[in-house]
Amino acid sequence: MYSIIVHGGVGRIPPEKEEATIAGVRSAVLAGQSVLKGGGSSMDAVELAISVMEDDPTFNAGTGSVLTFDGEVEMDAAMAHGPTLSFGAVTGIRNIRHPIALARMVMEKTDHVLLQGAGAQEFARMMGIPAHNPVTEERRMQWRDYRERFLRGDAGDWPKLRALMREHPEFLHGTVGAVAIDEQGEVVAGTSTGGVFLKLLGRVGDTPLPGAGTYATGFGGASSTGIGEGMMRTLITKTACDFMRLGLDAQGAASGAVSMVDNTIGTQAGIIVVDCRGSVGFANNTGRLAHAYVTSEMDEPRVGI
Ligand code: ASP
Repeated sequence: MYSIIVHGGVGRIPPEKEEATIAGVRSAVLAGQSVLKGGGSSMDAVELAISVMEDDPTFNAGTGSVLTFDGEVEMDAAMAHGPTLSFGAVTGIRNIRHPIALARMVMEKTDHVLLQGAGAQEFARMMGIPAHNPVTEERRMQWRDYRERFLRGDAGDWPKLRALMREHPEFLHGTVGAVAIDEQGEVVAGTSTGGVFLKLLGRVGDTPLPGAGTYATGFGGASSTGIGEGMMRTLITKTACDFMRLGLDAQGAASGAVSMVDNTIGTQAGIIVVDCRGSVGFANNTGRLAHAYVTSEMDEPRVGI
């Protein structure tokens, strides 16, 4: 028995990006499934599924990540291993192709949980990871446009940026995540992102923080997407895992966690979940969540946006 679910962000998807988004989440889930089908681990499946989306410029992770206010790419990624509560993450990482692989290395090769900025960069160099420029021309053009609009709005402070994102939920499209359970019953969750457009340099999002953007326990795992500050304040993935510990299945946990966000701070949120019995679930409060899932019981993945 195995299951895997992936997401490609919670924001509005521009019509011209719909096809590429559907193809992207589908390729990612098939890549993860190929690992699980061959008896491979949920860790390898989650890493591969996320790497596929990090290489796809449609998504806001790895190549194609959004730019900070200063025009840089600073990426966050995390991986969580449910049975051991192990967690590895990087934040503010630049110039690498697969932040998710580096997050996994933090978990497997260090005694730490989260490496940031220059230290994370140095760790990548020590691990022999080559430099890679993740900035695409399309993102650079969007950055110029959004930045101008933002500045024209007579703003320079964060609440105005939040308002801009509410008005333009496409800002939140493209963070990627995967959650899987393997034949051994081990649940792993991972998330990777360029963060949010126009974020301040040094801003840490929810993705690399345990219980915010990414979490897994012996009862299940979850990866979230949305305005990171909201995920941090509500600990949405930890909440979903707690719901599973109390007996809810993956769908109940996903819906319950998003309801909890709605009933408190009401920030834009989406989540994917796998429980320790192999059920998958997903929920969002924006009407949009690019996702794909497949289980050992299914012939074909199911894909939706
Ligand atoms: N949660 C991400 C962040 O705030 C953004 C997203 O999900 O699109 O960094």
